[in-house]
Amino acid sequence: MESTTMRRRFDSVEASAMVSDLRVTFDSGKTRSYEWRASQLKALTKLTEENEQAIVQALNSDLSKCETEAYIQEIAMLKNSCKGALKELKRWMTSEKVKTSISTFPSTAEIVSEPLGVVLIISAWNYPFLLSLEPIIGAIAAGNAVVLKPSEVAPATSSLLAKLLGEYLDNSCIRVVEGAVDETSALLQQKWDKIFYTGNGRVARIVMAAAAKHLTPVVLELGGKSPAVVDSNIDLKVATRRIIAGKWCCNNGQACISPDYIITTKDYAPKLVDALKTELEKFYGKNPLESKDLSRIVNSNHFGRLTKLLDDEKLSGKIVFGGEKDESKLMISPTILLDVPRNSLMMREEIFGPLLPIITVDKLEESFDVINSGTKPLAAYLFTTNNKLKEQFVMNISAGGLVINDTALHLAINTLPFGGVGESGIGAYHGKFSFDAFSHKKAVLYRSFFGDAAIRYPPYTNTKMRLLKALIGGGLLGIIRALFGLS
Ligand code: NAD
Repeated sequence: MESTTMRRRFDSVEASAMVSDLRVTFDSGKTRSYEWRASQLKALTKLTEENEQAIVQALNSDLSKCETEAYIQEIAMLKNSCKGALKELKRWMTSEKVKTSISTFPSTAEIVSEPLGVVLIISAWNYPFLLSLEPIIGAIAAGNAVVLKPSEVAPATSSLLAKLLGEYLDNSCIRVVEGAVDETSALLQQKWDKIFYTGNGRVARIVMAAAAKHLTPVVLELGGKSPAVVDSNIDLKVATRRIIAGKWCCNNGQACISPDYIITTKDYAPKLVDALKTELEKFYGKNPLESKDLSRIVNSNHFGRLTKLLDDEKLSGKIVFGGEKDESKLMISPTILLDVPRNSLMMREEIFGPLLPIITVDKLEESFDVINSGTKPLAAYLFTTNNKLKEQFVMNISAGGLVINDTALHLAINTLPFGGVGESGIGAYHGKFSFDAFSHKKAVLYRSFFGDAAIRYPPYTNTKMRLLKALIGGGLLGIIRALFGLS
């Protein structure tokens, strides 16, 4: 898209006109039918299937993302979600019959899922294809009109999304607005029926404040410092490979659910470091900066941010593996730091890159206090064979999601909600949770004109009161007693 023309043109006047247009289409009822929703989900699948190479190229241009990661972590995930939504759509749309109570007898009741209206999706740069389209699946499935604002930090994918959604989807209901802060601010001034934001907590506060002006509900998909606790009774090789898979095999650590830091015991740390070194060398060779399987750092701002974390004087002598950088290629190698002080910069903010600090404790149980002393993370991982510890971890650690003996994989399970808690986010999506995130659950009670009980109406008497009390809480015996004046 001609981004400079777009940037000058797209202000709040144009944003307002666009939302009005979409509202007219939404009000026409077009997006509500099963046929429209299914047709758009099919079109999204077709878009993905017919443009795999272009998507891979855009992700490579934005992040040097390798084809395997682009395919498995973005393209295949999206196709899978579309397929799942299409398979379940009729069931999701069917209203749910629920029980009624004796106090409304005779009656029936149901929960009807209705679309919210016109919704805004603001996405982030690290999985720019998936994070833009996965929420759109939910918005379409639930029958909404949608505006997508992809991240300007991944410009190739942003412009590809604008082109492809323009070509494949129904533009009377689904639009893309490219741009950065100005364009997003213009969008945020409008009244939306839901705002779904993926990104960092600072901007999330701006989004939520803008939404509050119109009482617009939000989903905020944020990040945080996701810990991995490593016990000593494990299959070290498998655990190590799985930690690497969630960290460096996910966009070189630029993933919201990558392990941010490790906690292990002082005694076990040297073994863990050795195993990580061995496996990392097997995966990325002796010179990881040359590896085609590692993404680059997205831009020089983030390269500078990560360099600053590494240059913290509190960390001098702490690097036990890696630490190589090539600014011309925006590459940083997988880097492990041992015994990182908790007051270092690296331990005070989300790393979102290839640096992995290890914190050591005397007893593994202390790790719970370390985690709980910080803000609630998006994910938390535990490697152990100790069932008691697993149980304690599940009961005591509050995080968006937990995985025992692996990392990141919960994201791929569409029957699990994906979202944060506390500082790591509000709301969740994936599978049916995406449909629910973009639906209003409307309570509907049906009555007939039969059985109009006089006890509801004045004049109120003691007998009516006794009967009402029995009806509300007295059970069948209480009702019979009240009817016969026995209570
Ligand atoms: P980003 O820079 O792409 O920003 C996200 C969006 O916010 C973009 O569309 C951008 O245009 C918009 N934006 C930026 N500044 C704005 C402003 N002042 N006003 C309005 N809009 C503005 O992405 P990021 O924030 O660097 O993303 C990284 C963060 O996102 C990390 O914290 C990561 O953990 C989190 N994240 C979370 C998930 C998840 O699913 N929970 C997924 C990916 C990333």
